Amino acid sequence: MDKVLAKWWGPTENDKILCTLCPRYCKIGEGQPGFCYIRQNHNGKLYSIGYGKPTGFAIDPIEKKPLNHFLPGTNILSFGTAGCNLGCKFCQNWSMSKAKLDDMNSLTVSPEGVVELAKSYGTPSIAFTYNDPTIFGEYVIDISKIAREDGIKSVMVTAGYIDKEARKDVYRFIDAANVDLKGFTERFYWRNTYSHLNDVLDTLIWLKNETDVWIELTTLLIPDENDSSDEIKLECDWILKNLGDRVPLHFTAFHPDFKMRDKERTPEDTLTTARKIAIDLGIKYCYVGNVHNREGQTTYCPNCKEKLIKRDWHSVISNKIINGCCKACGKLIEGVFQ
Ligand code: SF4
Repeated sequence: MDKVLAKWWGPTENDKILCTLCPRYCKIGEGQPGFCYIRQNHNGKLYSIGYGKPTGFAIDPIEKKPLNHFLPGTNILSFGTAGCNLGCKFCQNWSMSKAKLDDMNSLTVSPEGVVELAKSYGTPSIAFTYNDPTIFGEYVIDISKIAREDGIKSVMVTAGYIDKEARKDVYRFIDAANVDLKGFTERFYWRNTYSHLNDVLDTLIWLKNETDVWIELTTLLIPDENDSSDEIKLECDWILKNLGDRVPLHFTAFHPDFKMRDKERTPEDTLTTARKIAIDLGIKYCYVGNVHNREGQTTYCPNCKEKLIKRDWHSVISNKIINGCCKACGKLIEGVFQ
């Protein structure tokens, strides 16, 4: 596949290109890549060299994304590319996000080919995941458009660090997103991810208010970095005020990796404490992840407290949601269940 001309860029000073896909707004010189590596200036034009270049495919349980209220118990065709527009010191996927295409022996697969693969495996959805799919937005649009025509849903697993105009294009055919809310202070965001909290919050408000995309949130709790009760309360208060009480929130366990190997793995108690804080403040669907904790992985009816979906790790053990409603009291459960 020839390299594909990128969207979302224009000329800027000193014969450079300004990429306007994400709030990093890289100014890219001739022959150079942007921060994310897979957007490159060749002869004064910006190319998406990650287009059509997955690093490989996996069939994952959708609970691994994590999404607990979107087609629970189904598998999802999952892939990413090389590169990333964030610089998380704690990246749990850094062998991909920090790689160059050649390092990864990337495949060459057309958008039609990705959708055909989903059909051949019988997965009802496709996830753009592992690295941040924002950076291969052109490929996301082309795949998700074809997928929708074929009745297959599309999912972004993302940090939500995307420009206000570009996101309208990238999310046009997207059905669900798990957005990382990586912490709740600007200090944490800048020091540990080289991105800005407010841009992510802006994306979340936009997704909630101006799209039909089903959203869930994930916060990877890192010991002594973003796991204080005060920070978790601030985050939950913001969610309640801006997104409401029905957006599922996942607190997941960190393991030492990449440039953050001096921290311990997150204790399970930290996750269960965070979940209790969220529930006490009024968040209706809160989960813990990367641990075996059945209580913290169960979906409860917010009305009658019936245990609706029992899970263990990424497996659904039982599901009592019928036609999107609680089997016991009939209350509508927020999400996409069929
Ligand atoms: S998408 Fe990549 S090249 Fe464009 S601004 Fe963001 S990091 Fe820079």
